[in-house]
Amino acid sequence: MGIENHSAAFAPPPPRADGRANLVGLSREELDAILREAGFEAFRARQVWHWIYHRGVTDFAAMTNLAKPAREKLAEGFVVERPLAVKDLLSDDGTRKWLCRMPADGQEIETVHIPEADRGTLCVSSQVGCTLTCRFCHTGTQRLVRNLTAAEIVGQVMLARDHLNEWPSPKDSRMLSNIVMMGMGEPLYNYENVAKALKIVMDGEGIAISKRRITLSTSGVVPMMERCGRELGVNLAVSLHAVNDELRDRIVPINRKYPIADLMNAVRNYPGLNNARRVTWEYVMLKGVNDSLADARELVRLVKGIPSKINLIPFNPWPGAPFECSDWAQIERFADFVNNAGYASPIRTPRGSDIMAACGQLKSESQRPTPAQRAAQIEAHKTLMAEYAAQVAAKEAVLGL
Ligand code: SAH
Ligand code: SF4
Repeated sequence: MGIENHSAAFAPPPPRADGRANLVGLSREELDAILREAGFEAFRARQVWHWIYHRGVTDFAAMTNLAKPAREKLAEGFVVERPLAVKDLLSDDGTRKWLCRMPADGQEIETVHIPEADRGTLCVSSQVGCTLTCRFCHTGTQRLVRNLTAAEIVGQVMLARDHLNEWPSPKDSRMLSNIVMMGMGEPLYNYENVAKALKIVMDGEGIAISKRRITLSTSGVVPMMERCGRELGVNLAVSLHAVNDELRDRIVPINRKYPIADLMNAVRNYPGLNNARRVTWEYVMLKGVNDSLADARELVRLVKGIPSKINLIPFNPWPGAPFECSDWAQIERFADFVNNAGYASPIRTPRGSDIMAACGQLKSESQRPTPAQRAAQIEAHKTLMAEYAAQVAAKEAVLGL
């Protein structure tokens, strides 16, 4: 199945039941067309765009440079809608996580804000679940439910701005200054919607976050990478995680379709890559799997000649995960080796682990089960494992892996 057909198979839900159209997520041209169609003058689209994306207004009544009848007419035909934050969790280290519910069908995704001294980064999701099945990733074991729409992607940024109280778009010193497409999902398997959303986010007369402050992370959807660089010009991060095809085939199964050599070529040719704009290689540290110094040596050999930095990510465990995180000393040895070879190799400090940890854990106190409960637990575990295996097999069949 081609990438386009595949996107269609995971298409988002149909439009709103009340017949009103959401103006969020439309390109400038589409906004212009839909308003003209509804009988508005040509210049209205620009005004409405400014209210929606620069001022963050959701109520047409607040659009005060429009005459009252025009505002009323807008409210009859349209809405300005974002996902609903149904949970708002704050970590001890300031990281904030919103559980976002989609108004269209109630599906839920997560968006995370990570404040740092000189910036604030929003980690945005592109799909409900994920198309792919990377073995160390919790999202990968979930069934892909669907792609997010452009409105739902840009809506996450707007929802964060609402909660950070950051409207109208400030010029500088922003709490939300950077975006990483590193939440749930594979953004290049939902490219059209991601691209549309990022173009809106980058528009200078609205949210106005520059392409230099946006990073898209992919597991390696080789055929979409050049287009992404050419059309969007955003920074690229690639989830490498293994330095030979044998291992990468197993832990990042998209490698069976686009092996390491093809991936390296695609990255080498990524538009706009230079020493000032390097690719970020993401490398999750899995104990005894990919963390030896021989792996580090091979990693350095692979990226030779590509302007690169290497982000080492301590593995974040989840219930039933078939891996452990490498020992800290080993992560540091690995980092030193890569660093001495001339590549920046920061170790990603786990942020917000208190709220992340809480989210995958059972709430109940652990109890000694009765033999009958124990038997039931074993059966439930078997069923769960079989379901996971079936979901992974089904997804890989769709992808032709
Ligand atoms: N789908 C995209 C972006 C989302 S994942 C991608 O795969 O690149 C963001 C990063 O987190 C990826 O590098 C991913 O491999 C990594 N990751 C996934 N599960 C992880 C885990 N359990 N511990 C640490 N990093 C993980
Ligand atoms: Fe997880 Fe990214 Fe792999 Fe999807 S592509 S399963 S989100 S690591």
